[in-house]
Amino acid sequence: MTALADKIAALIRTAGPISVSDYMALCLFDPEHGYYTTRQPFGHGGDFITAPEISQMFGELVGAWIVSVWRDLGEPRGMLLAEIGPGRGTLMKDVLRTLSQVAPALLAGASVHMVEASPRLAAVQREALRSSPAEIHWHQALAGLPDGPLLIVGNELFDAIPVHQYVRTPQGWRERCVAADETGALSFVHGAGGIDPSLLPPAAADAAEGAIFEASPARSSLMQHIAERIADHSGAALFFDYGHLEPGLGDTLQAVLDHRYDDALANPGRADITSHVDFAALAATVRGAGLIPHLAAQGDFLLRMGLLERAGRLGADASAATRQDLGEAVERLAGPDKMGNLFKVLAFSSASRPPAPFA
Ligand code: SAH
Repeated sequence: MTALADKIAALIRTAGPISVSDYMALCLFDPEHGYYTTRQPFGHGGDFITAPEISQMFGELVGAWIVSVWRDLGEPRGMLLAEIGPGRGTLMKDVLRTLSQVAPALLAGASVHMVEASPRLAAVQREALRSSPAEIHWHQALAGLPDGPLLIVGNELFDAIPVHQYVRTPQGWRERCVAADETGALSFVHGAGGIDPSLLPPAAADAAEGAIFEASPARSSLMQHIAERIADHSGAALFFDYGHLEPGLGDTLQAVLDHRYDDALANPGRADITSHVDFAALAATVRGAGLIPHLAAQGDFLLRMGLLERAGRLGADASAATRQDLGEAVERLAGPDKMGNLFKVLAFSSASRPPAPFA
């Protein structure tokens, strides 16, 4: 058992079962034992590999997207270029290199901001970006960003924001909670609380007993904050994550430890814990702020942004081994059986023209 499992069991013994959302928040962000607060999760030595860690091409294409929407917005000065949930800082590093090559005027007129909840990861990012071509400011939360037109990107951020789960029981939908027995072993139980039926998707009407529905007010409220800022001050946003475009039922809570799926209750604080992102819910929030959301599968998005051309250019004068690496990276990022279909993209902009490649 982990130290965090003991702490959670003690909390449950005094306060009663906790929601899946509170459990996830403790696993990821407990100040002493949380996954993001104490670990270096990403990369080959970590528990999982994310798109920017697979290939520099990912960040280069995000850079190309940023340049394109910046032009759509009329090349505003005083713009904030921000990333939220930057992990090891690799995406921003590739973006800044790209911008300094293809759009130095953008960088000269912008300030660069990293929004990172984990002080430990912020320190890793500072190190990774030490020789970056721009001055960079760090913030622990979005509210710390100064006012101004905002171009913001994020990869695998929303999956790490806690979700609530609801289970269909003979008594109706009940919140799924985490309980602890006298030995401290954690298990799922049905809590007393229910859910406003208007929040359930159509499929919930004839769901079988045991069916699960996930809802994340925390994700929606973060997206609302971002979209409202962009509606008020102009700007654009681009988010990548695994998830679904249609609302539906299903238990997508997943723990990953050392590149393998793990029992979600077995190693709190040691395993990464996430759930699939409901892109329909995020898109509805963007629409609520008066902006038009654009959705695509990651593979489609990257191919339309020029992934194959970029790989071709990088491979032109390279060794056979490098060309093979590039081919494998293209496959992993965009292949329908790899990240291409499972991962989705949500993009929106306050400009009159839809953002690339949706224009
Ligand atoms: N984007 C990186 C890391 C993804 S993991 C990559 O693709 O490799 C999720 C990241 O989001 C971590 O850096 C985590 O600390 C951060 N994070 C989670 N919730 C956050 C929040 N509410 N605000 C800012 N950062 C957050």
